[in-house]
Amino acid sequence: MKFSDFSIRIKLIVLLGATSAIALLISAVMSLSLTFVAQRNESLRHLQQMSDVARENLTAALAFRDNASAARMLGSLSANPRIMAAIIHDDEARQFSAFVAPAANQGSVARYLAEVAQLATRKQQQLFEQRVGLESIEFDYMYVVTPIVLEGKTLGTLTLLSDNQALKERISSFVLMQILISVLTLAIIVLISIRLQKVFTAPIFHIIDAIRKIAETKNYAVSVETIQNDEFKVLYHHFNDMIAQIRERDALLSRLATTDPLTGLANRRHAMEVLQTLVTRALRKQEFFGLIMFDIDYFKRINDQFGHPVGDLVLKEVAAILLHGAREYDLVARIGGEEFLLLCDHSDPQTTHLIAERMRLAIEANVITIDSGKTLRITASAGVYAVVPASDDLDAPLRCVDAALYHAKETGRNQVLMWENHEK
Ligand code: GH3
Ligand code: MG
Ligand code: MG
Repeated sequence: MKFSDFSIRIKLIVLLGATSAIALLISAVMSLSLTFVAQRNESLRHLQQMSDVARENLTAALAFRDNASAARMLGSLSANPRIMAAIIHDDEARQFSAFVAPAANQGSVARYLAEVAQLATRKQQQLFEQRVGLESIEFDYMYVVTPIVLEGKTLGTLTLLSDNQALKERISSFVLMQILISVLTLAIIVLISIRLQKVFTAPIFHIIDAIRKIAETKNYAVSVETIQNDEFKVLYHHFNDMIAQIRERDALLSRLATTDPLTGLANRRHAMEVLQTLVTRALRKQEFFGLIMFDIDYFKRINDQFGHPVGDLVLKEVAAILLHGAREYDLVARIGGEEFLLLCDHSDPQTTHLIAERMRLAIEANVITIDSGKTLRITASAGVYAVVPASDDLDAPLRCVDAALYHAKETGRNQVLMWENHEK
């Protein structure tokens, strides 16, 4: 798995953690090196002070070549457990007196002393003429070489060799503390960034959630809100705008797909969909459902006599009458030129017939005023079919209601006829 594949939550936490880790590392290295320099100088200064004190006392012993008292004075340095060796050389670099701590590793001490002596030989001029001492810290030991001077004459040198133990301990405890502080700080930063990442990720996840819900439910009646006043507010604003546009277009499309543009009634396609649900439910519950099919009588003549626009007006008038006469939960549809279908949920044959008859009378009684000021009256015929369905097939009920309508037309028009069993 690549880093780019991780969740943005993880990426943010890693980013904050890594940035802080680098900052911590830089500051740790800087303070460690400063501390090292300070501790190193401090250790050397301490060794130098010891050397200065010892040198005062040794000057006379070296001047008078008093070996015994020189050895005694060097021996007194053994009180300090860090001192590994103390050596006095005379002005011809010969060893005059020496003290080596018995606890120290004798082989190592000899090797360290040889290294220091080699350096002292190289820096002879600095030591004897300029009377400037040598000092350094190596990995395993540190040393100072101090010239012993009496009345302007360099009598020899005092070499003090000490181990680094104290310095190493101080540095390592400092490193340990640094690591501890860094780990603690890092843990706090990670904890904070886990909380902080929500400021960035929560609005993103919120909008992802909203998009997923829309995709799943096709319901565009949503909007997203944020209390953050940053770019997310802009994103949310545009998102809501976009969803509102889709919502409007969706509503328009479904209106266009389900309604008849002339009358505003449901179109044939929508009527068939609703009929299917109606029949299926009536079948399941073993309840009645009713169908009424209306057809305007001699409609062709109206078109021929008054023109197509008047025909359209008549269609609209009839649509309004049917809509007005229908119950709230009935569906009125225009399924052909001047053919209308009414779906009456939960409606037995008598009720359905009653509804149809009421509508037929209303159509008959209606006086239509056309543009020229003339008035016009029309009639319509209807077929009625109402049963408890035996199957969820739509062909049979549509055929039956059509047959009833045909029968109404054949036997005089301007009447409502119920489908009879003998009709096929
Ligand atoms: P019947 O009594 O047997 O029903 O006779 P009819 O003249 O009403 O029936 P027919 O089916 O012969 O004629 C229907 C007419 O409806 C034919 C067509 O020109 C007209 N028509 C169909 N759609 C529209 C429409 O959208 N607007 C108008 N004005 N006329 C339409
Ligand atoms: Mg017709
Ligand atoms: Mg007709």
